[in-house]
Amino acid sequence: MANSIEVAKELLHRYWGFDAFKPGQEAVVASILEGQDTLALLPTGGGKSLCYQVPALAMDGLCLVVSPLIALMKDQVSRLNRQGLSAASLVSGLSSTESEAIRVRADRGELKFLYLSPERLSGKDFVTRSRGWKIALLAVDEAHCIAQWGHDFRPEYQRIAAFREQMGALVTVALTGSATPAVCDEICERLGMVRPALVRQSFARPMLSYRWQETVSKHQALEDALVGLKGKALVYVGSRRNSEELSRYLASKGYPVQAYHAGLTPEQRDFRQQTWMNHTKPIMVCTTAFGMGIDQPDVRLVFHWDPPESPEAYYQEAGRAGRDGGHGLCVLAWQKSDLQLARKRVQDAFPPIEQIQRIYQALGQWCNLAVGGGQDQRFAFDISAFCLRFDLEQRVVYHALQILHRANLVMAEEESLLPARIRFKVSSAQLYEQRVLNPTLDPYIDLLLRKHPGILDHPVRFDERRMARESGTTTVAILQAIHRLQELDLLDYTPRSDQQNLCWLSERLPPSHFYLPPQAYSDLLQARQRRLEAMIAMITGTGTCRSRLMLAYFGETAAMDCGRCDACISAGGRFEEMTTQEFQAWTLQVRPYLSAPLHPAELRQALEAHGLVRGPEDWERQAKALAWLVQQGAVARDVDDRLLWKNP
Ligand code: ADP
Ligand code: MG
Repeated sequence: MANSIEVAKELLHRYWGFDAFKPGQEAVVASILEGQDTLALLPTGGGKSLCYQVPALAMDGLCLVVSPLIALMKDQVSRLNRQGLSAASLVSGLSSTESEAIRVRADRGELKFLYLSPERLSGKDFVTRSRGWKIALLAVDEAHCIAQWGHDFRPEYQRIAAFREQMGALVTVALTGSATPAVCDEICERLGMVRPALVRQSFARPMLSYRWQETVSKHQALEDALVGLKGKALVYVGSRRNSEELSRYLASKGYPVQAYHAGLTPEQRDFRQQTWMNHTKPIMVCTTAFGMGIDQPDVRLVFHWDPPESPEAYYQEAGRAGRDGGHGLCVLAWQKSDLQLARKRVQDAFPPIEQIQRIYQALGQWCNLAVGGGQDQRFAFDISAFCLRFDLEQRVVYHALQILHRANLVMAEEESLLPARIRFKVSSAQLYEQRVLNPTLDPYIDLLLRKHPGILDHPVRFDERRMARESGTTTVAILQAIHRLQELDLLDYTPRSDQQNLCWLSERLPPSHFYLPPQAYSDLLQARQRRLEAMIAMITGTGTCRSRLMLAYFGETAAMDCGRCDACISAGGRFEEMTTQEFQAWTLQVRPYLSAPLHPAELRQALEAHGLVRGPEDWERQAKALAWLVQQGAVARDVDDRLLWKNP
């Protein structure tokens, strides 16, 4: 397979401009190219997308990508398009003409990547239609979602396995950035993958320093953490109101700060994200709405004002610090009352089923929708007017909408789901004539063509703000040009929709057919509660290295103390498990293994293989000794958590 890896590297370079794979990527790519089903566990930011995109390019046929998160799909599709690769997504809310246009491109073999939400995959029409396609690879991204939402609740996840069976042998790769051992097993079972190749990259982030502290004043803790901030900071809060209030407070103290949450208009969001990224206001007080696709190298502080809902969420959010391999400080300041509040939040997120049912029926009335109708239709929605009319509480409606979305019934779009789309209606020859006839339009036509591959064949996403930014003009000038092009009948333009919409994912059900399985529903609640309790147990515990606690949760047992977190620091890096003689003898044994960089887990394996580690407790002593050597500077620890003996 050495050959195909060379091909893969060449593709990596040609399309992405990268010279080397990140740790773990090559193993995933090689495994896929060998035709193996593969489960890839790589931390967030580890480069999971490329793990299926690169081999797909080396394979003949279409790559189907199932992903539960629409925003991520949109992001990936537009990235691939910008790279000149053909990609599209079939998601709820597309008109039937639009979805059909995409299917036709797949029929013709013109698509390399097709992103789908799981419910699309399970439709009968889809299975029939896709039999005619040459499918090279099935990738399931964010695969932990499959386990998290339970099979009773989202039956379509279950059908991914059925789809695989119907398609015959279909090489499948599942990717996730947060899987405990139990979740891994569940993913394999749900996807019907029998003994897949497992590629697991360590989740350790040795450059992050965790400080989890109970505190009398969170304001003080935050200001302390901000002292001497170089680079950017993210302050995570649990509600929109908190994000506004806290950012006002910090602003009043003179900090360059702004708030970010889902209640802002798309323009505000865009603007604030820009001013955060370009360092005008490097402190962002945000809800978890800020996060998707943030990959900024120089975040130096991630501060949690409210406890995160799970270790998975915490790992992702805190992990946004130190992406450049430099230091990151991750502070979580808490008070007892926060823990109670967090528990209440989880409970609130699951309103009684009867209440959800009532809200569902009210939504049907709001949209004036007959029973049996509405699938894939969208309606203007105003949550406060809705609550007023049906005498409902906004908070409850909000949570009910989340559940209805998860149950694949109705989705409220927090932001405009559909971006503006644009397409030239004429051939390139005709367009050329027009460019000669209308020299003032020529630069705009040129820009449109250059920045939007495929624009002559099918509607492509269009963002006038981005285009203005990238070309140094104004959005007004661009919209005027678009307008002219429409008048000349050269261009189709569908503007972006900004209002909040309600989109029916399935037809409206009669009250008698509305059914959320109560057992599955309470299982979901309990799973959420368990994750929160795991988080709380971690932050309230003392004595054990924070980093190890998190890694143990993700199933990594061979980790060592980080030496940086508050627990390690207050333990003072003491190490008394070995006598001086023992330590010297041990050093001589271990040293040769670390003449080249080795991950602690690999080291443990190697030592075990030679009978030099006898059981978990023995490893524990040795890990402490290693951590001590790291602290003393005798052993180096790199960003990928590999160890190397200095001055061999
Ligand atoms: P994940 O899905 O694992 O969180 P992504 O696929 O979104 O990660 O990739 C994270 C970032 O890493 C992206 O900006 C991507 O361009 C970058 N990246 C991926 N692979 C490589 C590589 N081999 N070399 C350099 N950068 C890479
Ligand atoms: Mg990803």
